[in-house]
Amino acid sequence: MRVDRYEVFVDVDYKNSYYRGVERIYLETEDEVRLDAVEVKVTSVKDQAGKELPFVQDNKENKVIIRTGKYSGYIEVSFEAPIKDKLSGLYRAKERVIKDGKEESLVFFTTQFESIHAREFIPCVDEPAAKAKFKLTVRVDKDLDVISNMPTDSVKEEGDKKVVSFQETPRMSTYLLYLGIGKFEELKDDYNGKPVLVATPPGKSQRGKFAIDVAKKSLSYYEGYFGIPYALPKLHLIVVPEFAAGAMENWGAITFRETALLADDNSPETIKKRVAEVVAHELAHQWFGNLVTMYWWDDLWLNESFATFMSYKAVSANYPQWDMWGDFVSSETGPAFFRDSFSTTHPIHADIKDPHEIEQIFDDITYGKGASILRMIEGFVGEEAFRNGVRLYLKEHSYGNAKAHDLWEAIERASGIKGVAELIEDWITSPGHPVVRVSVSGTKVRFSQERFWISERKEDRVYKIPLTVEVNGRRVSLIFDKKEDVIDVGEEVKTLRVNLSRTASIGSCTRATR
Ligand SMILES: [Zn+2]
Repeated sequence: MRVDRYEVFVDVDYKNSYYRGVERIYLETEDEVRLDAVEVKVTSVKDQAGKELPFVQDNKENKVIIRTGKYSGYIEVSFEAPIKDKLSGLYRAKERVIKDGKEESLVFFTTQFESIHAREFIPCVDEPAAKAKFKLTVRVDKDLDVISNMPTDSVKEEGDKKVVSFQETPRMSTYLLYLGIGKFEELKDDYNGKPVLVATPPGKSQRGKFAIDVAKKSLSYYEGYFGIPYALPKLHLIVVPEFAAGAMENWGAITFRETALLADDNSPETIKKRVAEVVAHELAHQWFGNLVTMYWWDDLWLNESFATFMSYKAVSANYPQWDMWGDFVSSETGPAFFRDSFSTTHPIHADIKDPHEIEQIFDDITYGKGASILRMIEGFVGEEAFRNGVRLYLKEHSYGNAKAHDLWEAIERASGIKGVAELIEDWITSPGHPVVRVSVSGTKVRFSQERFWISERKEDRVYKIPLTVEVNGRRVSLIFDKKEDVIDVGEEVKTLRVNLSRTASIGSCTRATR
């Protein structure tokens, strides 16, 4: 079964926190249609001639099975659902405001779909590889604002309601769709003619100036780095009052906790740095994650590690006054080392059969070690070859899906260094990290490695370590993949530096015995 396009109409009852919807799903199937749906009640299904189609809604498996037979065209699915206070799907979030000395709460409806919550909003094929175009239309009270991934293409008033229709999205995964409804205040700027907007609850948008500055600088940085322009016609940065994550990269409509987006001249540097990092992280996803998406959730670590790594690059380039790479070693590599030195650690790559497991694997290993390994590979192949590999990968898989291995292969091709893909694969699938001991005697440098354990030593392992070494001021890159190795440099070793810029994911322990 293949889905091409969703035309979604939802009629939102703001007062009663409820919505009814109807969607046309353009698809092709050989036998039947299977849709994911959780807490959304399907009320009827029709074919494109208007004929009712038999369907079963299995609330245990959370599937809607429609017996179409071999079919090509659209089916029309009607559905309805309550809007609850639950932080996923389309949910209710309250902002407390003081009005005339009294506390009031302002209600927003907002969506959070990653990883498997689009199915709580509309019946759909809710998998990252099932990319489709979305044309969204929403009917709401006239005095409310509506935000989605794309700009509006029409707004029609109907008595005290209005019907807001959005432009169609490019092909994208369901988890990146966004809908926000409420009273938003906006701060507007533009980047190369494309609107860049901060949307907040009333009274707060002015504090979004710094975030807009970061967003514009990051867009420019990434367009240069990736060699691909930002794909959507506008970009929203939205403050959501009640939000489980720090931020979410919905394409063109990124959501944030207030503390991760708003900062002004009076804010401490640490807050501004955090805002810069989070905005840059989410913007990196607009390419890496949104334009090119993982096939399956087992590569979610790469999506997150890559955006983490890129955010340091972008912030470091745009705000050189902050020592971002020093921060990287202490906030990303350090905690990953710590977590990785216990027997309870796990390899970065985890097999995921049941998507419910996804949210459990987010830890310092997923983000920190993953990002550190990307930095190590970049240090080994060089910045240019690494960037060219990333560009190849994004170009070849735009509006589609890819596996982590596709990126390693692209980096190997771009660098011309054989064995790079295999080397990365080894790090991704091995738990722990090594400590490397180095000693010098005359013209010889001796390396040895062992797996690092914080307490009792358990099994040992030999890692393929890309090392950058400087001998007497000369730089040498090598892959150290044995338990022990001795290199004769042909002259007496006077100065030796190992693991330059601390890019290798190793515990460094250099001892010169001369
Ligand atoms: Zn992320």
